[in-house]
This record gives sequence, C-alpha cells and structure tokens, in this order.
Amino acid sequence: MARRLDKILVIDVEATCWEGDPPEGQVSEIIEIGLCVLDVASGEREPARAIMVQPQRSTLSEFCVQLTTITPEMLADGIHFAEACDLLRDAYHSCQRTWASYGDYDRLQFMKQCEAWGIAYPFGRSHINVKNLLALQLGLKKEVGLQRGTSLLGLTFEGTIHRGVDDAWNIAAVLDRVLLGRNR
Ligand code: AMP
Ligand code: MG
Repeated sequence: MARRLDKILVIDVEATCWEGDPPEGQVSEIIEIGLCVLDVASGEREPARAIMVQPQRSTLSEFCVQLTTITPEMLADGIHFAEACDLLRDAYHSCQRTWASYGDYDRLQFMKQCEAWGIAYPFGRSHINVKNLLALQLGLKKEVGLQRGTSLLGLTFEGTIHRGVDDAWNIAAVLDRVLLGRNR
C-alpha cells in the first residue's frame, strides 16, 4: 500500500489507571483515542475528535476519573477497541499515514493491547515521537512534558490536560511548529 504524506494523524490515548499497580485481574487499557489530523502543506489542524472506548478488562478507578476527567457516563456509548482500530484504518487510512504522539507511551500501549487482544495493529511503520523531536529541536538536556513543551514554544495549552482529544490538539500544534518549522 502506498504511503500517504498529505496528513499526519496526531494521536493521544488515555487508559485505565490506578495510583500504583492495577488491582488483581485488571490490566490498563485504552479508554480514549484523541485524534487531530494535521495537514502537512497548510499546517491546518482539523478539529480534534475523541473516540471513546469501553474498557473490557478493567474498570474506571476514581483516581483515573480525577486524572483524565473521563467518567463512566462518557464511556457508556463508547465503542470496542477493535472497532476503534477499524475506524482509524477505514476512515483515516492509518496504515498508510504517518502518525505522531507525544513520547513512546501511546505507541507501546497500542502495540501491547493489539498483541494481547489479537487485533491487527492499525498503523504502518512511520511514527513520529513529538516529545523527542521537540527536545532535539530546542537542544534540551531532557525531554519535557506536554504542558512545559507547549509553553517553551510560546504556545498556550488549550483545553484539559490528560484528555486525549485536547492533548492531541495541542500536540498537533507543537508538531506543526517543530517538524514543519512554522512560526505564526
Ligand atoms: P497522558 O497522555 O499524559 O494524559 O497520559 C496517558 C495515560 O497515562 C493516562 O490515561 C493514564 O492511564 C496514564 N497516566 C498518565 N499520568 C499518570 C499518573 N500520574 N498516574 C498514573 N497513570 C498516569
Ligand atoms: Mg493524554
């Protein structure tokens, strides 16, 4: 399949979590896939979208609700992880497009969950780690979190941190600045 280089899929996932290790019998799994499509030529971001995913092997802890602001009600109409992967593939051509996320976490979580559940990984090989790229671009000694990274570029973080949809929107702005060298 030919690669498509017109748009980059900027993705940020939220997953079930606890203050420490998961309780016996539970495993961290994706509950939100935040997606912002960045147009390479123009640098325009499409409005970010939240794909809510119902957890199958874990429950939403109070800690996780506090961290992410995602409530059980918001997951009531969520789709299954396999359907979410189909959606990425079918509606966004995710296997042919470069995708980007902030750090390694999102890519590793996708790989881990796909393997554990026997679901085909919905991306190709081209992934951009925006956290790493930003640190290299700015000559930082250490990679920094998304809010710090945003402010180092003189951008204002828009929305709620740890909501996938808002994280993806802001990561796309950082990527536009760093990778595509735009300054507006
Ligand atoms: P983020 O993209 O930074 O919002 O984080 C993605 C996911 O990582 C969250 O949905 C949690 O599952 C996990 N996570 C992030 N920060 C923490 C934390 N301080 N404690 C436990 N899990 C976390
Ligand atoms: Mg996030």
